[in-house]
Amino acid sequence: MNLCMEGGVKMDFRFTPEQEALRKEFTEFCKEEAKSAPEGWIGGLAAEETDEGWAYHQSVVKKVAAKGWLCLPWPEEYGGKGHGPVEQLIFNEVMAYYRVPAIPFHFMTVAAGIMVYGTEEQKKEWLPKIARAEINWAEGLSEPNAGSDLASLTTTAVADGAHYVINGQKVWTSGAHRADHIFILARTDPNEPRHKGLTFFINKIGPGIEFRPLIFMNGSHFYNETFIDDFRVPRENVVGKVNQGWYVMMAGRNFARANIAFAAGGKRDLEDLIEYCKETQEGGEILAKKALVRHRLVELAIDFEAALKFAYYIAWLQSKGKDIAVEAAACGYYASELNLRLANTAIEIMGLYGTVTRESNWAPLCGKFQDLCQWSSGFTIAGGTTEIRKNIIAWQGLKLPRD
Ligand SMILES: Cc1cc2nc3c(=O)[nH]c(=O)nc-3n(C[C@H](O)[C@H](O)[C@H](O)COP(=O)(O)OP(=O)(O)OC[C@H]3O[C@@H](n4cnc5c(N)ncnc54)[C@H](O)[C@@H]3O)c2cc1C
Repeated sequence: MNLCMEGGVKMDFRFTPEQEALRKEFTEFCKEEAKSAPEGWIGGLAAEETDEGWAYHQSVVKKVAAKGWLCLPWPEEYGGKGHGPVEQLIFNEVMAYYRVPAIPFHFMTVAAGIMVYGTEEQKKEWLPKIARAEINWAEGLSEPNAGSDLASLTTTAVADGAHYVINGQKVWTSGAHRADHIFILARTDPNEPRHKGLTFFINKIGPGIEFRPLIFMNGSHFYNETFIDDFRVPRENVVGKVNQGWYVMMAGRNFARANIAFAAGGKRDLEDLIEYCKETQEGGEILAKKALVRHRLVELAIDFEAALKFAYYIAWLQSKGKDIAVEAAACGYYASELNLRLANTAIEIMGLYGTVTRESNWAPLCGKFQDLCQWSSGFTIAGGTTEIRKNIIAWQGLKLPRD
């Protein structure tokens, strides 16, 4: 794999005995926690949707926080373990594979922003609470007319004595109905060019913030619209300098770039599909004996193995201090599109049963693939759409001309 580095990369990566021991420890923990999952738990983005799922998520997160695993790569001075990106990836892989919802939503974006750009007071006040999973965050970035082109956002923040007063609208605010705090990127100087006039705010959710459910196409409540009307945020809750919020947000994005959740979660889903094909007959023949089904399963198995290795390659590059923007875009693109392909293939193999929703006893594998079929299109959008990822690879990696 050589998307950007001239002359190739000599890859010398194997897990250390300490990393193997960590994997064992994480695996034992996740296997145990998986036993307390609510009935019919199918993992993925299910935690925010139901009270039961949320209670399960909260109970796991608290245990993970107590072990100090929430902040594996944080510096020790902030309560972290000082581990590298590979250890973080091992944890994320094991957790996704066992479908254990152990990582709080959005917390890394805000924690990294505070760690890199926050004042000493902010670090002392916020980081321990984040590390102990005492806070649930909503992410107030995207707007109705600012998603991929986030720098065009129009939510404003105006100084008023000891506060900033924020007004505007955010959208796709995932899990906000479970959150108690919010971080918001807002425009503080309309005269500065685009991303230079933005500021990053953190605050407890209170008067001036209204969330309205934005029901997903499968009927679940995961996203919200966020209406911000004279929301007052104390000046001391500005992270980084005023008008420098773009860089604070990017610090979070850069902290953990190697994403393995799609690859590891998808691998587990594929294993379930393989078992289903071994056990299920169609027209008197076991599905797994049909040549076409077998070929499709094999193709997916190879691709998921490649996606897992790709993620570790990125973590390894990151641990060597390399710029991984292009590889991270490529890996995100590959694994998210692969999940979409897995879901569609599973539905094709299962035929009409594949489209039965999880409430029905007739739904194979608790309706996992019907659900994934709808959610996986979101995976190709969140954190950068497929097209944006391709642009990054084209321009920065392949040095193709911009149009
Ligand atoms: C599961 C999920 C969770 C999310 N959670 C949150 C959250 O908690 N908080 C939050 O703030 N946001 C959240 N988002 C929103 C997400 O960040 C945006 O959806 C994403 O940035 C894309 O923006 P958009 O939806 O406005 O689409 P647009 O940017 O309008 O894109 C529309 C289409 O145009 C294409 N396109 C856009 N620009 C270009 C270009 N330059 N070149 C080629 N094609 C282009 C895109 O690829 C896409 O196909 C979430 C999204 C998802 C799917």
